[in-house]
Amino acid sequence: MRIDVLSLFPEMFDGVFGASMLGRAQTNGLLDIRVHNIRDYADNKHRKTDDYPFGGGAGMVMMAQPIFDCMEAVQGGEPARRILLTPRGKLLSTERARALAKEERLILLCGHYEGVDERVNAIIDEEISIGDYVLTGGELPAMVLVDCVSRFVPGVLGSEQSAEDESHSNGLLEYPQYTRPADFRGMAVPEILQNGHHANIQKWRQEQSRLKTKQMRPILLGRFGKSEESEK
Ligand code: SAM
Repeated sequence: MRIDVLSLFPEMFDGVFGASMLGRAQTNGLLDIRVHNIRDYADNKHRKTDDYPFGGGAGMVMMAQPIFDCMEAVQGGEPARRILLTPRGKLLSTERARALAKEERLILLCGHYEGVDERVNAIIDEEISIGDYVLTGGELPAMVLVDCVSRFVPGVLGSEQSAEDESHSNGLLEYPQYTRPADFRGMAVPEILQNGHHANIQKWRQEQSRLKTKQMRPILLGRFGKSEESEK
């Protein structure tokens, strides 16, 4: 899968894309991630990429020209799903990430300042938000999206199972996990996890998963119940 990121601050991506699983996935040829500087495409003398908003108001708006030229050059006329990261977008979900992982190519546009000129929407297929809060730029959201989508690209995680056995993968939050030692400062690992009876462990995990979801995100439990009903 190829992912291009268009940003005014490409240096922000170095550590995140170069390390751990994303770094290894690129070394192994599973992902091809390229970050492009929008400023390189500004056609004015001072390579200006933002200007005052029409109608007044605080802050600056990213100009359409550098973004259009950058997008066109990077896309090169090839098919790609073009995504703008914006707090006005649809909320990122496991379901959406799983679907995006099936695309051959993504191009992510990071806004900054007060955002991008609305006419940029002419070259965007989808707007995605990573949560109902506002960050200073689209770089962190783009990193979140790349990380989240990559986990569903076959081979990126050590085991195919792991992306499907996590919080949100089946609509519920994950059950508690423990590792050695069995007793840490008087806090013991539940007996059932130590006796190795697979069916009982599964049952315990399902119960814990429901309990955790009820405590932390009861709204998810309601949705899960409905999807179970409709499956039946
Ligand atoms: N004025 C915009 C608004 O009220 O919707 C917010 C602009 S924000 C300060 C600058 C940029 O950060 C946005 O253009 C977007 O690319 C990115 N951004 C901020 N919060 C985000 C979020 N929750 N999800 C995705 N992108 C976000």
